[in-house]
Amino acid sequence: MRNLSRVLLAVVVAAAVVVAAPSAAPSPTFHQLLDAGIPIYCGGGDKGYVAFTFDDGPGPYSAQLVTLLKQYGVRATFFNIGEKVVRHPRLTRLEASVGAIGDHSFTHPNLITLPRDQIIAELARTRKAIRRITRRRVILFRPPFGDNASEILSIAHGLGMLEVMWNQDSGDASEASTPSSQEIYQHLVDRVRAGGIVLMHEDEQVPATLNALKLYLPEFQKTGLKAVTVPQLLALDPPPLEQVAKGSGGCNSSWRGP
Ligand SMILES: [Zn+2]
Repeated sequence: MRNLSRVLLAVVVAAAVVVAAPSAAPSPTFHQLLDAGIPIYCGGGDKGYVAFTFDDGPGPYSAQLVTLLKQYGVRATFFNIGEKVVRHPRLTRLEASVGAIGDHSFTHPNLITLPRDQIIAELARTRKAIRRITRRRVILFRPPFGDNASEILSIAHGLGMLEVMWNQDSGDASEASTPSSQEIYQHLVDRVRAGGIVLMHEDEQVPATLNALKLYLPEFQKTGLKAVTVPQLLALDPPPLEQVAKGSGGCNSSWRGP
């Protein structure tokens, strides 16, 4: 019986993907994931796709980052801070030209310490600013500090945004000290696998992540993996709902190369 329901779920998900394919709008699979009301940590992992994500921008190195991503044909997802989006509309549009822009709150506070109406305002103001500047619907949210408390999750859901966490950390936001480019590069080599949602940050002080990517992207090209946005990853390699329910522990990479 359990196997049967699993097969039925797979059929439903597969059908949803087929139906969604001709449309640029979020697929039914995306809505299915959204309606499940649980955060996403990764794709299915059995196809050769990876989603690079960059938090906390746009900032002083955004233009260089976009140029580098374009050079390697890499699509990415940027979880931007609303007040920076308002300050740097041109950079926000530039980032939108190579991928998707998600909501990362307006001032990057520790959301759970705020009253509910302020949490809503943090998310809604950012969503509105990104939409006004990019003229695209904002369907992704990542909480500051990765705090995915259920209240924050339900507010994001109420605003029509899927909460996106990660399962592969570049380690570029070490609290104790900023890691070197070489260290970040090594983490990427060791950790990036098929189906992964990779956590990176936009550099503020020194271009450590940018320089790590300059080393890493030539290596990444050799893996045969393709870097796509989070919505593309979820459409091309959707994680089964039972896997999503297990959080980061449900993530695995069964793809063995092209
Ligand atoms: Zn952040």
